[in-house]
Amino acid sequence: TSAATTSRARITSHGGRSERLRPISTAPSSSNRYFSNRKNNKRPMKPKYILALDQGTTSSRAVLFNSRCEIVSMSQRPFNQQFPQPGWVEHNPLEIWSTQSFVMENVVNKADIEWSDIEALGITNQRETTVVWDRQTSEPVYNAIVWQDRRTADYCDVLRERGLTKRIREKTGLILDAYFSATKIRWILDNVPGARARAERDELCFGTVDSWLAWRLSGGRLHITDVSNASRTMLFDIHTLDWDDELLDLFDIPRSMLPEVVPTSAVYGTTDCPQIPVPIPIASLAGDQQAALFGQQCIAPFSAKTTYGTGCFIMLNTGDRPHASANNLLATVAWQLGGKTTYALEGSVFVGGSVIQWLRDGLKLFSSSADSEPLAASVEDTGGVYLVPALTGLGAPYWDPYARGTIVGITRGTTSAHITRAALEAIAFEVDDVVRAMAADTGHTSTEMRVDGGAVANSLLMQFQADLTGVRIIRPSVMESTALGVAMFAGLAVGFWHSTDEICALLKPDRTFSPEAAPALMEQRRKRWHEAVRRSRHWVEE
Ligand code: ADP
Repeated sequence: TSAATTSRARITSHGGRSERLRPISTAPSSSNRYFSNRKNNKRPMKPKYILALDQGTTSSRAVLFNSRCEIVSMSQRPFNQQFPQPGWVEHNPLEIWSTQSFVMENVVNKADIEWSDIEALGITNQRETTVVWDRQTSEPVYNAIVWQDRRTADYCDVLRERGLTKRIREKTGLILDAYFSATKIRWILDNVPGARARAERDELCFGTVDSWLAWRLSGGRLHITDVSNASRTMLFDIHTLDWDDELLDLFDIPRSMLPEVVPTSAVYGTTDCPQIPVPIPIASLAGDQQAALFGQQCIAPFSAKTTYGTGCFIMLNTGDRPHASANNLLATVAWQLGGKTTYALEGSVFVGGSVIQWLRDGLKLFSSSADSEPLAASVEDTGGVYLVPALTGLGAPYWDPYARGTIVGITRGTTSAHITRAALEAIAFEVDDVVRAMAADTGHTSTEMRVDGGAVANSLLMQFQADLTGVRIIRPSVMESTALGVAMFAGLAVGFWHSTDEICALLKPDRTFSPEAAPALMEQRRKRWHEAVRRSRHWVEE
């Protein structure tokens, strides 16, 4: 008997309207099959696994975890980025699905296990990216419009002029921007021939990528999204945790298109697709940044993580209530787990690790990103140089699209080593600005921060971050925080793990960086940085 197909599942019949939702239980039932082999505290005879599907912006990945939270196998496949016009970014939803199902089959084959050895799977995904498909045929009516796509920016300006910024922010926690799903759905309804009429006849489904994958994996039985993904659509009231009728009216989106909102960790149903021969519980959906927050064990209020990738993504757990930001940060739902909702504040820096890429590929100062560390370490300091990496404008907390990259304080003595050191320090200054904005918004200063992403390999950067921000920086040993986070959610839903404490005990940090510099010196440096930021701002003429 499959626990997941009985009382917990909400079944949407093929082509039919959704039934009224029954509450989805998040408490693992002691009578289900997942527990039977643990009776009398015996370990299961055969190792079991959790499958994490990590659907990112440039590639689809699958990661298989064992009960010790170790990665057993991993597979990744990039897919096409389509740029039909300047500022437009699209993905083919069928390619998202085909690459995702390819890597999912690949990890199982690589690990040489049976599908039946997988206790549950979870889906984590690029957020905000918008898919609309036909309820009967499962055919997308248009490409997925990616979060980076700016085609609806003008429409957002119109709404801003109509004075809607504050109202949208109060309800959704978001800044009125083309980034989020609402205006993208509206664009599809208005621009794909026949789409609006079909939507009004209940023939179309909207979903972010989590919904789209759950739909395909369940053979069209599940049309769901979790609270963390819903909170990025700009249609979701993060206080009532429901789609908001006023916003649906404003964007002219029929409510019947929207997925059912479910908790982040719960058995929603089972797989029913040709790629997977046995039904496997689908037990988590989570936006990628929120999954990373959980995977980094930022479970207690006011714990924070930063991902240092192309950009930097800073997220702070704010506990059981959303904090309105006075500093251009986003309030968002982190997750819903065991009947409790947890919120977060989020700030994004556009250019993080990619400033190192620019020094490497644009200025050719070194040949691999890792070489930035010894080069920067070859000088004692930046020699008074500050580099503001506003290459594509400034993100949080400035939100200045007209800022541009700036290097100040250059003298005859300045070398490539000084500039490289200034670039690494700049990444830390940018993150520090967001961390301080979060402290100002919440009235709470954190003492530690967990880190992941490609650039955390750079120990000089991590030590400077600890010195500057005055917090302990904790670098984990499992670097796949996003996949780990969704595996944790899915594993908790089926009783593979019993508590977050049990999981945290399995995870060991790789290295901790403690603040060593004098705070007064860092305050002086911060002042100079802000002076450099001031000089970079409003550079491009409107
Ligand atoms: P994303 O997932 O956003 O593509 P990653 O997490 O893979 O990015 O991080 C890659 C970024 O980190 C690149 O911009 C690269 O320049 C930077 N990076 C990688 N290694 C280092 C290093 N040792 N020092 C500084 N930056 C690095």
